[in-house]
Amino acid sequence: MTNKALNVENLYIDIPLAEGVLHAVDGITLHVDRGETLCIVGESGCGKSLTSLAIMGLLPKAASRNMIALELGGIDILNYSQKQMSNIRGNKMAMIFQEPMTSLNPAYSIGNQLMEAILRHKNISRKDARDRAVELLQKVGIIDAVNRLRQFPHQLSGGLRQRVMIAMALMCSPDLIIADEPTTALDVTIQAQILSLLKDLQDDFGMGLLLITHDMGVVARMADRVAVMYAGQIVEQGSVHQLFDNPAHPYTRGLMRCIPVPGKVKRGEPLGTIPGMVPSLVGKFSGCRFDGRWSESVDNEPDPMLALEPISEKKYSYNVEGSVGHSVRFCCDQCLSNSKAKVSSTKVA
Ligand code: ADP
Ligand code: MG
Repeated sequence: MTNKALNVENLYIDIPLAEGVLHAVDGITLHVDRGETLCIVGESGCGKSLTSLAIMGLLPKAASRNMIALELGGIDILNYSQKQMSNIRGNKMAMIFQEPMTSLNPAYSIGNQLMEAILRHKNISRKDARDRAVELLQKVGIIDAVNRLRQFPHQLSGGLRQRVMIAMALMCSPDLIIADEPTTALDVTIQAQILSLLKDLQDDFGMGLLLITHDMGVVARMADRVAVMYAGQIVEQGSVHQLFDNPAHPYTRGLMRCIPVPGKVKRGEPLGTIPGMVPSLVGKFSGCRFDGRWSESVDNEPDPMLALEPISEKKYSYNVEGSVGHSVRFCCDQCLSNSKAKVSSTKVA
């Protein structure tokens, strides 16, 4: 059995617009192991949600998707039909969205909605489905689960609704859960509770978790590995320690300066910001994706020890020397020189 819950290779997503084609996602490769949390982190508009929708087979009609591999729990699902995809959604992979009200149906009770997927996908009696729903509501910390089954979404608070969504995602014991900004709409204490709940459940159930966020604090707390996304590309990928201790891309270093670190940032001192905006990705892109985004404050501590090995065939893609699984991608020579890295001439396969 493969250890990979999810494998995605070279994903591209295009959306035709009146002004031209939007190249929203531009060749990203990632995987999530079983029992592992991969955080995709990036600014708003960089392509995180489209990436998750492409994996789930839920892209908007106008969007076109292209990739060379899509595997779920070791099974090739790249050419699955709409019908085959709907058989694995909510079953082998489940999704938790930012706003639970958009994915809960206001007209059905919590119990009916929890039981729907498992009754559809598994050969199970109504009684067993109901018992499983109660068990999972208890697992996600909902008191008085039996009575909650009869309630409707509008009778629950935002935090409780998100707990119900998590229970629903777990009903069929999926290989993979994709959570797109699951706590962004919640206040900070509830957010912390939901995140630690997700972490505990992952320890119990062992599924892969693809967690999408724009918040480096959430990354620090949740991730085993991190993929930093910028303007439709993954610019850096590696373990949470590799990225926090030894960030290779100047943009990753910029993001680090936007989070308060105890001991490093003094009380009252302003946090870093990254100037400028994400470039438009409509039409053929030329130039540097980071134009206008560098400043002294963004990249004032380049690491003189940073050594990179080119990954063969892929222009501007490198492995960080001596750091297994840590890769970085620059968009052009200017970005590479901003990184102040030492580049070795030997290519790795
Ligand atoms: P993120 O989740 O990182 O904030 P998205 O994946 O939602 O970003 O969007 C990536 C880019 O694609 C953005 O520029 C967004 O405006 C555009 N986009 C997303 N969905 C659509 C759509 N249905 N039609 C046109 N453009 C879209
Ligand atoms: Mg999004």
